[in-house]
Amino acid sequence: MGRIHVLSEHVANKIAAGEVVERPASVVKELIENSLDAGATRVRIDIEAGGRKLIQVTDNGCGMVRDDAMLAFERHATSKLTHDDDLLSIATLGFRGEALPSIAAVCRLRMETREESEASGTVVEIAGGRILTVEEAGLPAGTSMSIRDLFFNTPARRKFLKAESTELSHIASLVTHYALAHPEMHWELHSATNAMLMAPPVASHSERIYQVFGKETLDELIPLAAQLPLERVGLPEPPPWRRQPDYEAPTPGELRLHGFTSKPEIQKLNRNSIFIFVNGRLIRDKVVMHGILEGYRNIIPPTVYPVVLLFLEMPCTEVDVNVHPSKTEVRFRQQSFVHDFVRDAVRSALMSARPAPAFANEIHSGPSARVALTPPLPGSAEEAFRALAGTAQQNDSVAEEFSVFSLIPLTNVPRNESLPFTGSMNVEGNAAASAVRIAPQSFGAPVPGGPAAAQYPAEEAVPETRSSCALPLDGIDDAMDLSMLGTLKPLGQIRDSFILATNPQGLWIIDQHVAHERVLFEKILQERGARKVEAQRLLMPIIVELRPAQQAIFTEIAEELEHNGFEAEPFGIRTIAIQSAPAGITGGEVAEMLEELLEQFEREEQALNLEKIRTRIAASIACHAAIKVNMPLDTAKMEWLLAKLAKTKYPMSCPHGRPVVLRYSVKDIQKAFKRI
Ligand code: ADP
Ligand code: MG
Repeated sequence: MGRIHVLSEHVANKIAAGEVVERPASVVKELIENSLDAGATRVRIDIEAGGRKLIQVTDNGCGMVRDDAMLAFERHATSKLTHDDDLLSIATLGFRGEALPSIAAVCRLRMETREESEASGTVVEIAGGRILTVEEAGLPAGTSMSIRDLFFNTPARRKFLKAESTELSHIASLVTHYALAHPEMHWELHSATNAMLMAPPVASHSERIYQVFGKETLDELIPLAAQLPLERVGLPEPPPWRRQPDYEAPTPGELRLHGFTSKPEIQKLNRNSIFIFVNGRLIRDKVVMHGILEGYRNIIPPTVYPVVLLFLEMPCTEVDVNVHPSKTEVRFRQQSFVHDFVRDAVRSALMSARPAPAFANEIHSGPSARVALTPPLPGSAEEAFRALAGTAQQNDSVAEEFSVFSLIPLTNVPRNESLPFTGSMNVEGNAAASAVRIAPQSFGAPVPGGPAAAQYPAEEAVPETRSSCALPLDGIDDAMDLSMLGTLKPLGQIRDSFILATNPQGLWIIDQHVAHERVLFEKILQERGARKVEAQRLLMPIIVELRPAQQAIFTEIAEELEHNGFEAEPFGIRTIAIQSAPAGITGGEVAEMLEELLEQFEREEQALNLEKIRTRIAASIACHAAIKVNMPLDTAKMEWLLAKLAKTKYPMSCPHGRPVVLRYSVKDIQKAFKRI
C-alpha cells in the first residue's frame, strides 16, 4: 500500500498557523488588517495577559452575513480575490484567505458579526479549528473577534511565547503604527488594566504623532513628501498580436511618498525605529531600507540609524505582495526606481530643513537602541528598569531579541528631559558627538549625591512673584535654520578649537575643524565632478610600503586617487612613490591619509562602488586639509569660515556624521534662567 496521503484540513490549518501566527502580535495584525479591509473607521483592541488569555478586535466595518461568517473559516476562503489575474493588482491587505482558519486552528475563537442591512447578526464559536456553535443574535453592525487561550492545543508554540509585557509591547507597537498610518480612524488599545492608546480621528499624520507621542517627538522629526511619475509600467505588456483592438497602453501612474524622518542628532543603534508602509501595509524591505540609509549617507555616522516613518504609495501592479505567508515582505517591479526615489526624497527633506541641533539635545544624545515611535508600557517595572539602566549596550541585546519584525520593545523614555544646565555636564572636545551616553540620568533632576549635588548644595527655593527680573524676552522667533549661519557674529574661540558666535536666535558653538571639513568635502566633490581638483607637487616623493591586502585595494582605487590629485608610481614590489597630493595636505600627512583610507576600505564588508570610493576619498582629504583644533583664528578667518559653512548644502554635520554647529536657543537660555 502507498504511504502518501493527503493531510486533513484540520492538520493543514495547524501547519498554516505555524507560518501565519507566530505570536499574539501576528494575530492582532491579521485581525486589524481584516478590519481595515472591511472599511472600518473605528477599531478597538483589547488584550489580556499579553494576548495569551485574550485578544479581541472590534470594528465597525462591513460585517458578514451568516453564510459568509461560516465560510470565512474555510481554508482559502476570501472575498478579496476572484481570478488569478487579481493577484497582480492587490489593493486589499488580505487576499490569501488563510488568516482566519489558521488562527481558529490554534485558539478558542468567538466571532460576532452583523452586516449593516441585516436585521440580526451571527455568532460563531470555534475551538481548535472545530466549529462548536453558529447562532443568530442581536448585534451591533460590524465584527468582533475574540481569541482566547492562544496556542492552547500547540504546547510547543506556547512555550516560545515571551514574557507578557514583551508580547504586549509587540502588540502596542503594531497598533500604534497602524494608528499612525490611519489618522482618519478612531483607534483604541486596552490592556486588562489600562487604556494604552486612545486616538480619536485627526486631520493629518503629524497631528496623530502629536496626539500619540507629544510635541517633543514631533519636533525631532522632519516631514517628508515627494511624488514622481513612473516612466513605465513594471509589468510586461501583452505582445501586439495579442492585444484587443480597443487595447490601451496602461498609464504608468506615479510613486508617492510621505512621512517623517528624524533630524540627524537623533541616532539609534539599530534599524528598529524605521517603519515602512507600502500601500498601507506595514512591511520590512531591504530596498526601501537601503534607500533611506543612502539618504543619510555622510550626514550621520555609518554605524547609527535614524527614526523613520515612511508611507509609500504606488499603483498596485507595481508591487507584488504575494511573497510571504505573513505578508510582511513585498517585491517591487521596479526596484531601483523605488530605491532612488526614497533616497532622493529623504536627502532633499534633510537638505531643505537644515535643522540646527540644539546644544542640550546633543549633550544628552548618544545612539540609543531604544525604539522610537512606540508607546510606553504603562507603569511596567520593566520600563522603569530600562529607563534607569538606559545604556546603549544593555538595550542593544534587548533590541536584538526583537529584530524579527522590529515591532518592538517599548519604553519610550522621554528624551532630553533635563534642562541644559542641570545635572553634570561633561563637555570635552567633541563630547556632544561621542558614542557614549553621557548622562544616563535623563530625568532632569540631578542624581542625589551626584556630582551636581556636591557642587551646588540645595538651596531653599525663594517663592517668586513675577517681577521684572524674570520676564520672558519679547519677540522671540525661535524657528530658524542654518541658512543664517553667515550672519553670525563670532565672539572668539574656546581653547582655540570651538568658535563662539551670537545672533538674536541664541548662542552658537561651531566646531572649527568639522566646519571646515564640511566646506572642503563639498568643494572637493564639486571640483572632482568638474574634473578641476587642485594638486600640489611634493618636493620629495613619499615612499609608502603596502601590505598585500592594501595593495589590492590600492589598485582598485588608484584611478580615483589620481583624479583627486594623487600621483603615485610603483617603486619596487609593494612600494609606491607619491609624487603629488591634493592641495592643502602637507607632505607629512600624505602617507597617514593613504594608510587610513586603505584601512577603511579594507574593513568595508560590502563591494566598493565608484560613488563610495569618491565620497570616502573626498571625506579623507577634507579631514586632513581642514583647519585643526588648537589653532587660533582671527575674526576675519572665523567670519570667512561661517560664511563658507552657510553656503554648503548640508552644514549640520561633517562627512562622518558628527554635528558641526550647536545652538543654545534663546528659549533654552530663558528656560535655564527660569524666565519661562
Ligand atoms: P483574507 O483577509 O486573506 O481574505 P481572512 O481569513 O483574513 O482572509 O478572512 C476571510 C474573509 O473573511 C475575508 O475575505 C473577509 O471577507 C471576511 N472577514 C474577515 N474579517 C472581517 C471583518 N473584520 N469584517 C468583515 N469581513 C471580514
Ligand atoms: Mg485577512
